[in-house]
Amino acid sequence: MRKEPPQGEELAVVAPHCYCGRLARLQTSWTESNPLRRFFVCPKSERGKNGCGFFVWVDIEMPRRERALMAWLLRTKREVEDQIVVKAETNLVLGTGRLVQIEQLHTLFQTEKLERLVETEMLERLVQTKMVELVGEMVEELG
Ligand SMILES: [Zn+2]
Repeated sequence: MRKEPPQGEELAVVAPHCYCGRLARLQTSWTESNPLRRFFVCPKSERGKNGCGFFVWVDIEMPRRERALMAWLLRTKREVEDQIVVKAETNLVLGTGRLVQIEQLHTLFQTEKLERLVETEMLERLVQTKMVELVGEMVEELG
């Protein structure tokens, strides 16, 4: 009994060889005119360069209504992503602002601590001087 190919399931796509003899690379287009449409290209192709120029669509063109819907979905997705980026940037700026505030507070705290230390040292020296004076007076009175 012959087995029927499963209905509604995709069959494996066999990669063709490009003009320079390599196995072509499968990619998916996300443009508004060809959303979700797969194609094969030369594996040497990168941004701006198209290798040996080999290019062949795998999927048929999407019907116009679906294409319009996909275009709208893609645009909405991009807008949402942009909003997320803007929000993240705003949070980063706010976060940086808070960090600067914390640093300023820390500096202020260190300065105050230093001032107190100086004040304490001055007080100690004053007390020492006064004690030396008093001991001197006592020695004179006894002497
Ligand atoms: Zn090639």
